[in-house]
Parts: sequence; structure tokens; C-alpha cells
Amino acid sequence: MVIGGIQKFSLLDFPGRTACIIFTQGCNFRCPYCYNRSLVLPEYYTDPLPEEEVFRFLRKRGGLLEGVVITGGEPAVHPDLPEFVAKLKSLGYLIKLDTNGSFPEVLKNMIDERLIDFVAMDVKAPPERYEEVVRAEVKVRNILISIELLKNSGIPYEFRTTAVKGFVDKDDLIRIGRLLRGAERYAIQRFVRADSLVDPAFRQMVPPPDEVLTVVASDLRKYIKEVEVR
Ligand code: SF4
Repeated sequence: MVIGGIQKFSLLDFPGRTACIIFTQGCNFRCPYCYNRSLVLPEYYTDPLPEEEVFRFLRKRGGLLEGVVITGGEPAVHPDLPEFVAKLKSLGYLIKLDTNGSFPEVLKNMIDERLIDFVAMDVKAPPERYEEVVRAEVKVRNILISIELLKNSGIPYEFRTTAVKGFVDKDDLIRIGRLLRGAERYAIQRFVRADSLVDPAFRQMVPPPDEVLTVVASDLRKYIKEVEVR
């Protein structure tokens, strides 16, 4: 596994669990609002952390941390993801996977093999705007397959979208929400400015106003059990 970094403790990233976060390096998307360019753009990569160093830390923390969040970048671009996660599970950790949903076959295998305990999947845009928003070639069918897979998986999951005024805004959120009809949980995440954005021009952007997001969330509660703005 190519590990770009580790956050040793978090109370916020794995619902209800104490966890550490492993950041994998590399992504097949180029979302302009992404604040992790050192995990996405090769020219910003730092030297990867040796996998053994990460396992040494996790063996010491056994019993103190309940879970490991695997995030990126996009973890599923790495063919050894299932094997890496199986090693973490053998140490007794619960696993949360953050994914952009473009590798449904990997997701399915990991669910079938009971390697993951929670999945957070980004749904970036309505289908017809996907490539424009993520600035990469996308097989949108794969995203739709991953959505259905999670809805029927029986494991806890959430879908989430980053909202950016004038880029992924009210109409997009409503169309995405309709696509997620019947889902358990959807989080609309306000875009946050950062110095490390994939597209520095997005430093000028802001999230849609809270009044708009609140109205959208309440509309989407007709289709989705829990809708949160955060
Ligand atoms: S926000 Fe987009 S570019 Fe950044 S890691 Fe996620 S999928 Fe990749």
C-alpha cells in the first residue's frame, strides 16, 4: 500500500469509534475543490510511509483505538487494498473505507469478504455533470453500481457531496439526492477553503449559503432517511 500519511487519533471520522486515519496516495479524479493535493497530484507527493511503520504503530495501539479509517486519495486505485485491509482486520480493528465509488468490483469483494464495517462514498455530481466536476474520465455506470451496492449491502454507510456555490449547487444536490432515493444517510458537506487545493483558483469559491442548504436538506428528507449539512 502506498501510504501518504497517518493521523494517529480521531473522534470525528469513524462514527461512534475512536480511530486513526490512513491516507493512501494517488487518485483517479481531480476534483478542483479537493484539499489533499499531496495525495492526488504526483508533483506534490511526499515520500510514502513504510507500511511496516504503520503496522508497528497499530500493534502498539491495540485496545486503545477501535477503528482505522482508510481514505485518500482513492484507496481502491491500489490493487493490494483488500490484502492491506485484511492485515489490519487481523489486528482486531474495525475498518471504515472512504471511496469515490469508481471501483464497484473492489467494493463488492471487500463487502463480501467482510473486510469493511462502514463505507463513506462521495457522490460528486449528477450523472451528466460527473466528468465536468471531477475533471477526469469517469464510467458513471460504476458510480451508479456502487450506490446500489451500498444501499443493499447491509453494512452501515453514508453518501456525501461537497457543495460549492455555482459549481455543485442547489439543483445538483437535489438531482443527486433523488438518485440516492431510499438511502439511509446523506451528508452535504460545505466546501472549505484551503491552501492545498487541487485547483488553486477554487480558493475564491465559497459554499452555498446555509439557507439554501437547509432547504435542500429538508426537501431530500422525502427520499432519504437522514440528511445532514456539515
Ligand atoms: S476529493 Fe476528488 S480528487 Fe480529492 S481524493 Fe477525493 S476523489 Fe480524489
